Amino acid sequence: MPRSDVIVVGAGPAGMVAAKTVAEKGISVTIFEEHSEVGTPTHCTGHVSLKGLRRLGLDLPKNVIENKITSAIFHSPSGFSFSMSYSTPVTYVLNRQLFDQTLLRSAMKAGAEISTGVSVTSFLKKNSQVVGVSLKGEEKRVSQVVIDDEGVSSTLLKRAGFETLDPSKTVNAIQAEVDGIQNVDESTVELFFGRKTAPGFYAWIVPLGDGIGKVGLAAAKGNPHDLLFRFINENSEAKHKLKRCSMRNLTGHPIPLSGGGIKSFYPGLLIVGDAASHVKPTTGGGIILGLTAAKIAGEIAAIAVKSEDSSARTLSHYERRWKKEIGFELTVMNYLRRLFDSLGDKQYDALFRYCRLLQLNETLKNERELDFQGTMLFRAIKNPRTFLALSYLFMTTLPAILTSRGDVYREDV
Ligand SMILES: Cc1cc2nc3c(=O)[nH]c(=O)nc-3n(C[C@H](O)[C@H](O)[C@H](O)COP(=O)(O)OP(=O)(O)OC[C@H]3O[C@@H](n4cnc5c(N)ncnc54)[C@H](O)[C@@H]3O)c2cc1C
Repeated sequence: MPRSDVIVVGAGPAGMVAAKTVAEKGISVTIFEEHSEVGTPTHCTGHVSLKGLRRLGLDLPKNVIENKITSAIFHSPSGFSFSMSYSTPVTYVLNRQLFDQTLLRSAMKAGAEISTGVSVTSFLKKNSQVVGVSLKGEEKRVSQVVIDDEGVSSTLLKRAGFETLDPSKTVNAIQAEVDGIQNVDESTVELFFGRKTAPGFYAWIVPLGDGIGKVGLAAAKGNPHDLLFRFINENSEAKHKLKRCSMRNLTGHPIPLSGGGIKSFYPGLLIVGDAASHVKPTTGGGIILGLTAAKIAGEIAAIAVKSEDSSARTLSHYERRWKKEIGFELTVMNYLRRLFDSLGDKQYDALFRYCRLLQLNETLKNERELDFQGTMLFRAIKNPRTFLALSYLFMTTLPAILTSRGDVYREDV
C-alpha cells in the first residue's frame, strides 16, 4: 500500500501550513484536496491583522493583498455608529485564492506533495489508531499521522465517530463580490449589527477600492440569502452605499464558533483549522488562529514520526501547546460571544453610544492586537474608559446570562 509519513486531508490554509512545517523537518507529507484547484471555490473575506501575519512569519507577495485597512465603523441596529481609526494600516484584505496558492507553493517548496481532485472518504483505523486514509475509488494510503484539515463540514470526523463541532454554535455566512459601492471610505471596513440585519452575528462591507468590495453577513438564524438581500435593500445605513451595486460570486459557507471546544487529537490523528474550531468566536476570523495551531500540529506530527510514536500521549502535546498559545484568547472570546448574543437591539444601540461617549476610539487607538483578544482586553481594561465600557457590557448582559436567556437573537426576526 502506498504510504507517506504524514497525510494532510484538505488544502485549506491550515492544512498547507501544517504540511509545510512537516516537510521542513525532512518528513514525507502528502496533501489530498478534493477540489481540482487549490483556493477555489473561495467564500472568505480574507480580512486579517498585520500583526497576526507577522507573528506567523508570513511575508506575502503584493498581488495577494487586495486592500489595506486603517479604520472600522460599527453600526448599531438603529443606525448609531462608532468608529475606530489608526494612522497606518492595521489589517489587510487578502485575495483568498492567491493566498491559498501562495501557501501551497511554499509547502511544495519545502517538499510537501499534493494530489488535487482526490477526495478522502474515511480514516483507516487499526484497533483505535488512525493509520491512514481511504480515497474515493477504494484506494488506501497509510501514514503514521493524519492531519485533518477538512474544514467545517467535519464529515470524516463524524464518520469515524469522533467529537465534532457544536451545530448550535455555527453561523451561516454568505458573501458576494460587488461593484458599484458608493459613499464608503476605501480604507474603512463597515460592520452592521442587529437582529433584523444579522441575528447572532453581523453584516459587513469590505471595500477593495474603485467601488469594488466584498459584502456579506453571517447569522445564527434565518435564511442568509434573504437576510443579505434585505440588508442591501432595506438597511437604513447600508442601502445608500449598496443601492447601485451588482453582485457576482455569491457563496455561502458556515463558520464554526465553538471556540476550540472540541478534542483535537486521537491516536494517529490531529485536527486543525475550522474542523477544530480554531476560529475567533467574536469575529469568525479563522485564518490567524487556524494557522497558529496548524504550525504546532506540523511540529508535533514531525516529532511523532521521528520517534515512531503517534500514540494519543505523544499527540496530546499538540492540544496542550495550542491551548497554551491561544486557549486563553479563545476562552475570553467565547465569553464575549455569549455576552454579544445576549444583547438586544436597544442594548447594542446603548453600548455603541456609550463607547462613543467614553471616546473609546482614543483609548484604543494604539491597540493593534486584534487576534489575541483576551490579552488585548486585559491590557485595555487597565484604562478607566475601557473598564467602564466593559462593565456596562457585563452589567447589561448579566441578567440574561444568569437566567440562561443568553440567546435573544434566536427570537423571531
Ligand atoms: C463568508 C466567510 C468570510 C470569512 N472571512 C474571514 C476573514 O475575513 N478572516 C478570517 O480570518 N477568516 C474568515 N473566514 C473564516 C476562514 O475562511 C476559515 O477560518 C478558513 O478558511 C479555515 O481554513 P481551514 O484550512 O481550516 O479550512 P478550509 O479553508 O475550509 O479548507 C478545507 C479544505 O479541505 C478540503 N476538503 C474537505 N473535505 C475533504 C475531503 N474529504 N477530502 C479532500 N479534501 C477535503 C476542502 O475542499 C478545502 O479545500 C470567513 C469564512 C466565511 C464563510
